[in-house]
Amino acid sequence: MSDDAPVAIITGAASGIGRALAAHYARRGVRSVIGAFPGDPHDPEETLRLVNEAGGQGVIHEVDVRSTASVDGFAGRAVQEYGRLDYAVANAGILRNAALDELSDDRWDAMLDVDLTGVLRTLRAGAAQMAEGGAMVAVSSIAGGVYGWEGHAHYAAAKAGVLGLIRSLAVELGPRGIRANAVIPGLIETPQSLDPVNSLGPEGLERAGKDIPWGRVGRPEEVASVIGFLTSEDARYVTGQSLIVDGGLTIK
Ligand code: NAD
Repeated sequence: MSDDAPVAIITGAASGIGRALAAHYARRGVRSVIGAFPGDPHDPEETLRLVNEAGGQGVIHEVDVRSTASVDGFAGRAVQEYGRLDYAVANAGILRNAALDELSDDRWDAMLDVDLTGVLRTLRAGAAQMAEGGAMVAVSSIAGGVYGWEGHAHYAAAKAGVLGLIRSLAVELGPRGIRANAVIPGLIETPQSLDPVNSLGPEGLERAGKDIPWGRVGRPEEVASVIGFLTSEDARYVTGQSLIVDGGLTIK
């Protein structure tokens, strides 16, 4: 891979959509800084293995999006390792189920710290390292864009906040040649949605898939390829947008 190949930072890349994105980037000649959350049971080495198998380049770096210092160090690693940063993908997120009467201030704050402020920290650190333009993508959710889901008010609020954040950043960073977009995934089979306590679990996903026009839930690589498109030159005139990737779930 050449020294002028683009470089991306991806938070939450030890599993799910983030892992699929690192593999997608490797196939398209984009180098990745693979964000590994220390508390995650999934192995970031497996992401790196997929990257190498695809003939790409990547490096693992620990990042906790609840800490500005951690995120700044993570974005800085791209420049230290490869001398540049082109794409910042704020993918890390958590999903917790809590009905309104259980939704304490602490639980609310913990959710927003990761799913909203964590996105701000990632994109702010990314923009600071981008020398000559670039692209950023934040991962929202249908819960924040177009869908209601009981027990997920805090998640929905965070994910809706991301959409406003992206529109503002697109305006602010356009003059610097930096584009900012969001993806809005529907139901995607990942560790997050396979968790039966906070999400649907395997059987719930299987059932829900039957009601989706496309006939099944999504695969992580089907969101990754859309993020890849949004950061690529093919989307060079697209900014401030939020693209739903849900197999038609929300049009039905
Ligand atoms: P996932 O659980 O595999 O990925 C989430 C990643 O975020 C994990 O790697 C985890 O380690 C990381 N993470 C959690 N807390 C972190 C922290 N404090 N700092 C850094 N990293 C942290 O699930 P996924 O579905 O691949 O999730 C990726 C994104 O997609 C999330 O933002 C999620 O909310 C969003 N999303 C998922 C679905 C779905 O159906 N799976 C739907 C809509 C949106």
